[in-house]
Amino acid sequence: MSRIYYTKPSITELEVRYATDAAANGWGDQCYQYIQRFEKAFEKHLDVKHAIATSSCTGALHMGMAALGIGPGDEVIMADTNWIATASPIVNLGAKPVFVDILPDSWCIDPTKAEAAITPRTKAIVAVHLYGNLCDMDALLAIGERHGIPIIEDAAEAIGSEYHGKLAGSMGRFGAFSFHGTKTLTTGEGGMFVTSDSELYEHVLALSNHGRMRGQTKQFWPDMVGFKYKMSNIQAAIGCAQMERIHDLIARKRQIFETYRQQISSIPGIRMNPEPEGTINGAWMPTIVFEPETGITWEILQAAFAKENADARVFFWPLSGLSMFEPVHENVHSWSIPVSAINLPSYHDITESELDRICNVIRRVAGKKHG
Ligand SMILES: *Cc1c(COP(=O)(O)O)cnc(C)c1O
Repeated sequence: MSRIYYTKPSITELEVRYATDAAANGWGDQCYQYIQRFEKAFEKHLDVKHAIATSSCTGALHMGMAALGIGPGDEVIMADTNWIATASPIVNLGAKPVFVDILPDSWCIDPTKAEAAITPRTKAIVAVHLYGNLCDMDALLAIGERHGIPIIEDAAEAIGSEYHGKLAGSMGRFGAFSFHGTKTLTTGEGGMFVTSDSELYEHVLALSNHGRMRGQTKQFWPDMVGFKYKMSNIQAAIGCAQMERIHDLIARKRQIFETYRQQISSIPGIRMNPEPEGTINGAWMPTIVFEPETGITWEILQAAFAKENADARVFFWPLSGLSMFEPVHENVHSWSIPVSAINLPSYHDITESELDRICNVIRRVAGKKHG
C-alpha cells in the first residue's frame, strides 16, 4: 500500500529547466534576473504595486513589522490558532503577541475579540488566512480604520484565496507569503513581501538589503541597520516556473478540496473549511473537524490514517499553550478545535484512488462508536 503524504511539491520539467538555467547562467549581470521577473509576476498576479522576494515568509513579516515601527513595549494582536512563524517576528522585535480566539467556522481571528484586545500599546493586528480560509477582512479593516491600527495579512496559506474580488494578501497594509516546500507555490524555502504603500515598500526594500537605500550612491554605505532576508536567483527561477503554472496549482488544490467536500462533508458531525458567499478558498489544506459529541479525536484519526499508510497532520495547537507564552484558556475555540481535527492530504499529484482511500478511512472512523 503506497504512502499518502499530506503534502509534496509539484515540480515539472519547466522548474528544472529554469533552475538549471539560473545555476548555469544566472550570475554577474544576470544575478537578479529571475528575482525581478518573479517579483513582477507576483505583483501582477496579486494586483499590488510592489513585491519583494524574501528567503521566507517569516523574514517578510519581520521586515514589514520592523518598518511599521513595532518594537519593545508594543503589542500585536493575532489569532491564538497559528503557526509560530507569525508570532516569532513580533517577539524578536521585542514586542508582545496578544493571542485572541478564532471564529468556530472560519478558524480565523474573531474580529470582535481582536477589537476588545486593543490597548494604547497595540501597533498592529495580524490577519492570518488559516488553511486558505479567509479572515473577515471587512470587519478587520473597519476596526483598523476606527483605531488607526494597520492590518497585516499573513497570506502564507492563502495563495489563490479571494475575498469579494480581492486576492488574499492584497488588502492589508502589507501582505506576506510563504513558498516553503509544503505550500501551494514553492521555491523550496522562500517568501514574498507585498504592499501597495510605496513609502513602506522603499523602507522594506532598504531593510531587505542591509539597510542600503536605493538612492544611496556611496558603495557599502547602509543608511540603517537592516536584515538579510533575500531570495536567491536560483530559488526565484523555480518561483518563475511555478508562477507560470499558478492557475493550475490553485485549480488542483480546489479540485481536491471539492472531491473531499462532495464525499465527506455530508457525514454527520463533520465540518470542513468554509467558503462563504463572495469568497474563493485557495484550499491549501483541506481540514476536517468533528463535533465533540462524536467522541472522535485527532489521535483516533491519526491511528486510522496510519493503518492506511496515510499522513494526517494535526490542526495547529494554540500558541498560548506553548511553554514560552502565558496560556489564554478563554480562547475556547483555539483550545478545543485541534482536539477533534486533522488536515487531509492534498498534494498536486494525489490520485483519485488515493483520495478514495482517505475518504473511506474517514467514513470508517465516523461510522464507529467512540467514547
Ligand atoms: C508557513 C507559514 C509561515 C512561515 O513561512 P516560512 O516561509 O516558513 O517562514 C508563516 N505563517 C503561516 C500562517 C504559515 O503557514
